[in-house]
Amino acid sequence: MAKVYYNGDVNDAAIQGKKVAIIGYGSQGHAHALNLKESGIDVVVGIRPGKSQEKAKEDGLEVTTVREAAEQADIIMILLPDESQPKVYKEEIEPGLKEGNSLVFAHGFNIHFNQIVPPANVDVFLVAPKGPGHLVRRTFTEGAGVPALFGIFQDVTGNAKDIALAYAKGVGGARAGVLETTFKEETETDLFGEQAVLCGGLSSLVKAGFETLVEAGYQPEVAYFECLHELKLIVDLMYEGGLEGMRYSISDTAQWGDFVSGPRVVDAGAKERMKDVLTDIQNGTFAKGWILENQANRPEFTAINANESEHLIEKVGRDLRKMMPFVNAK
Ligand code: NDP
Ligand code: MG
Ligand code: MG
Repeated sequence: MAKVYYNGDVNDAAIQGKKVAIIGYGSQGHAHALNLKESGIDVVVGIRPGKSQEKAKEDGLEVTTVREAAEQADIIMILLPDESQPKVYKEEIEPGLKEGNSLVFAHGFNIHFNQIVPPANVDVFLVAPKGPGHLVRRTFTEGAGVPALFGIFQDVTGNAKDIALAYAKGVGGARAGVLETTFKEETETDLFGEQAVLCGGLSSLVKAGFETLVEAGYQPEVAYFECLHELKLIVDLMYEGGLEGMRYSISDTAQWGDFVSGPRVVDAGAKERMKDVLTDIQNGTFAKGWILENQANRPEFTAINANESEHLIEKVGRDLRKMMPFVNAK
């Protein structure tokens, strides 16, 4: 079994007296900055003028430019969108790096795929919460945490591991469990998870189920509740008790249907195609496509996104959710 680190395994002194710059104040940025500050760590937010900058100020944080934050801090955590990191790094972060600083990421993409090449005289590591930023924040305020991974790319001070663990504790990750990984493993498994299962696999499964029912003449509203809304209730049971916990709560009829029909839908062919997705991640094909798509100003991303928002499941869902204020997205 892999070693899992918890609060008690962490050397807090590794981060005490150090200043942490959080670059970007979006989903992960706001969560890291606020959680670290409330953990007693000295935080400065580096962010361009705009909406996030206003938010960081409203939240009572010390705010400055990206350049200035990178200059001031000992630990620089980059929480910009992956595709905008290389340019901002080159122009505003790298000039502020000093020997022995820590350059930190929450996802290994830019280091692993060679889009950011750090200098040889700084520590480079990742601390990646395994959950959306808003939950990294919400669970922290509830006294809980989201599990995290850490991985060391470059350790010039000899303290990279201790600093990474102290950082992970500061954001609440060591309340839930912290595992050691590598940039390669974190990058490839994170991309695979979001593509094949969590985001891509799931949204395709939900849409295919919804379309199957609607095309067979059932009401779209019934199909929405059945194939999308109820998913959360099932996933909550899995989160709490694994597949067996979910199967304990559902009826035996549902469990029998799970056993006999699930593997007919997600069959050996689907698994073969998952392997193809993983191969494209491992050999850089996916990364190259995404980098080029961004360089071309996202023509395909924009077109698909527009088509997706016109899908019947979204139209029906918008109307139904209006009547359920308790599920409204914050
Ligand atoms: P977001 O898109 O939520 O945040 C973007 C932030 O960066 C905003 O504050 C935005 O400011 C700022 N920003 C965007 N472009 C620029 C730019 N060109 N120059 C300066 N500032 C800019 O990012 P995420 O939190 O989703 O992702 C951050 C990192 O965390 C990524 O490496 C991602 O892979 C990783 N990660 C994300 C997870 C998540 O939950 N989303 C989960 C685990 C890891 P403005 O308001 O001005 O646009
Ligand atoms: Mg990801
Ligand atoms: Mg992820």
